[in-house]
Amino acid sequence: MEKRYGAFAALDGVDLDVARGEVVALIGPSGSGKSTLVRCVNLLETYDGGSVEVDGIAVRDDRHLARVRAEVGMVFQQFNLFPHMSALRNVALAPVRVRGLSWPEATARAEALLERVGLRAHQHKRPGQLSGGQQQRVAIARALAMQPELLLFDEPTSALDPEMVQEVLDVIQDIARTGATLLIVTHEMSFARKVADRVVFMEQGRIVEIAPPETFFTNPATDRARAFIHTATRGRGGMSA
Ligand code: ADP
Repeated sequence: MEKRYGAFAALDGVDLDVARGEVVALIGPSGSGKSTLVRCVNLLETYDGGSVEVDGIAVRDDRHLARVRAEVGMVFQQFNLFPHMSALRNVALAPVRVRGLSWPEATARAEALLERVGLRAHQHKRPGQLSGGQQQRVAIARALAMQPELLLFDEPTSALDPEMVQEVLDVIQDIARTGATLLIVTHEMSFARKVADRVVFMEQGRIVEIAPPETFFTNPATDRARAFIHTATRGRGGMSA
């Protein structure tokens, strides 16, 4: 598929299939098109050529917007929670509005999900009363509450203080183990290595390499990937974990 901003090709001949139950990590230098790619999958961006399909739904234009948004969840760098609502209501809202659940049904589901992300004790707090890591865990619970076919993460830990990164990665890893289909843009290399079934390495709007993480990180096929891995893992505790 293709995506241009004016004459600039943000995505150029990108071809990627994600299987049901697969966890795919999208990595690459800043500006390589990772965010643009995931935003095209849930119609936050339109695209100029090619096609995107999610579970047989053509993700093309506004006609498909409601269906796409119901089936494709997204977790953003900046949580994007409703500030005036409790954590519980943030998580329960969309299942009521979009899936037609009753408030008691949606609340029960939200409580179970907040339990799962370790926040049941904080469910009545508003986002402003929670740490960044806690807010992001609420945002993940909110995305899961819709029981999406596909869950997108766009740098979910980039806005967090370092000490909160791990708690969010742990939650994502837990979700990955449940057989969910995840497409994750991340700069956390050891996380990508541990959790992903495949790593997709992008540069300048193109996919340069797709490989299982062990292969990618220990024996990348291209010099560009090798240079990226070297830079991305330097000074970050290396590749351990
Ligand atoms: P990444 O997520 O890999 O950092 P992005 O997908 O955010 O990369 O951006 C890819 C390229 O597209 C970058 O060069 C960026 O400057 C450009 N770009 C992204 N959004 C816009 C926009 N709204 N208008 C113009 N250029 C954009």
